[in-house]
Amino acid sequence: MERNAMKEHLKKMLGADQVLTEDLDLLYYSYDSSFLTKLQMSAPDTVVLPRSTEEVQKIMQFAYENRIPLTPRGAGTGETGGSAPMSGGIVMDLSSWDDIVEVDAANMQVTVRPGVIHSELNDHLAGFNLFFPPDPGSSKMCTIGGMVANNASGLRAVKYGCTEQYILGLEVVLPDGRVITTGGMKSKAIKNVSGLNITKLFVGSEGILGVITQVRLRLFPKPKGRGIVMAVFSELDDAPRAVLEVYRAGILPSGIEILDSSAIKAVNEFKPHINLPDAEAILLFEVDGNPPSVEWEGTTIVEIVSKFAQTVEWATEPDRMAALWEGRSVTAAAATRVRADGSRIFAGEDISVPLSGVADALRKIRALGKKHGIQVVNYGHIGDGNVHTAPIIDPENPEEVERALKLVDDIHLLAIELNGSTTGEHGVGAVRREYARLEHGDAVDMMQAVKNALDPHKIMNPGKVF
Ligand SMILES: Cc1cc2nc3c(=O)[nH]c(=O)nc-3n(C[C@H](O)[C@H](O)[C@H](O)COP(=O)(O)OP(=O)(O)OC[C@H]3O[C@@H](n4cnc5c(N)ncnc54)[C@H](O)[C@@H]3O)c2cc1C
Repeated sequence: MERNAMKEHLKKMLGADQVLTEDLDLLYYSYDSSFLTKLQMSAPDTVVLPRSTEEVQKIMQFAYENRIPLTPRGAGTGETGGSAPMSGGIVMDLSSWDDIVEVDAANMQVTVRPGVIHSELNDHLAGFNLFFPPDPGSSKMCTIGGMVANNASGLRAVKYGCTEQYILGLEVVLPDGRVITTGGMKSKAIKNVSGLNITKLFVGSEGILGVITQVRLRLFPKPKGRGIVMAVFSELDDAPRAVLEVYRAGILPSGIEILDSSAIKAVNEFKPHINLPDAEAILLFEVDGNPPSVEWEGTTIVEIVSKFAQTVEWATEPDRMAALWEGRSVTAAAATRVRADGSRIFAGEDISVPLSGVADALRKIRALGKKHGIQVVNYGHIGDGNVHTAPIIDPENPEEVERALKLVDDIHLLAIELNGSTTGEHGVGAVRREYARLEHGDAVDMMQAVKNALDPHKIMNPGKVF
């Protein structure tokens, strides 16, 4: 269909205020937070801002009939080009459709539209003494729709898992405009094993199977107590050893974070007042629950890790906990400031490896950085083997960019070699498709068969996942 005719049709359908066509607006939608989409921007022909299932349905029917590519988008905080329209067409921005439809406190669940911001949902739920546990670092920006589509998680995945564990049901508009409800049409049940698990099919589907228009989430009671243990190690290998000993003692902390020597240095240069000890690694254990159990878990962790660590500190007072956590909370920002003429790029940034392979992965990533002449800062969620690597480069220097891309390729291959995954959090999007066959083998054919069945004209988010 001719572009102008498409724009005019959509304006008639939705009203001019829900359709963006100006070049500057389109530029904003031509990339997300990933480095690679900033290198290769791809603008949509138009952007639509639906605010009802009926509107989404009409747009999908129109795109389907006219074979127009359509890319759903939340807040665009994705790190893999997932919401960048690689083939142009329509971007469907769902971020302004942000109603909290119903808090069902008695049944510990909430129903929301896709554009609700994660932190705003939890602020609202705090009034009911409930929370939605997954906690991405982008909490103040990312949408629930984007979290479901990317199966997002965060540093508390150790204890609370990923978004998928909290999805009780979804409303989805399929590529041809049909609307389905997963998890039971009228169900308010928490346990439900009836039928094939279609809900899980859409969790982590990265916008290639349909548009998520409503989400029913399971909630947990907010824990009453919290405590932090900080442990400092002179040997890198002692850090994962200490983590395994804590698990063996029957303790499941809500978070276990690692900063290696590169991250410690970056933090101290960025905020000298934090003054982290010079060490090979620092671990931060967070425990939560009822105050007596928090106290027992914290003091037991101290006892265990003291066998491995140079120094250990335990705190439950809010000010001291904040001070111990400050280094971790500024690590990502510190990485961007390591070089005056450079910046941190988001590429190869979230591999995950088995727990027993974390020290090996960190050492090998440092060696790969040296091999390619690229400085890296390493930190991450050691409790579940999710390693964050921040390559620091001058993004304006093409030769440096080329070396960084080779480094990133090596990091992804390393993850597979260590029996891990190319992505523990951020997904595949446009930037990790080439590893699909290596990571999943013939299972990719099954993924393709599902995609073909739901989206025979391949209009949904082309160029992503596999
Ligand atoms: C500073 C920062 C920190 C981050 N920290 C974390 C972290 O700790 N853990 C983590 O997991 N991620 C993290 N991320 C990545 C990102 O925030 C998450 O993947 C998030 O879930 C994306 O949400 P979004 O609303 O921005 O989605 P977008 O980036 O807009 O979209 C992401 C994908 O979802 C699809 N999509 C979006 N909405 C819908 C919908 N309604 N229906 C169907 N498909 C849809 C898009 O097509 C795209 O493929 C971080 C990003 C940044 C910038």
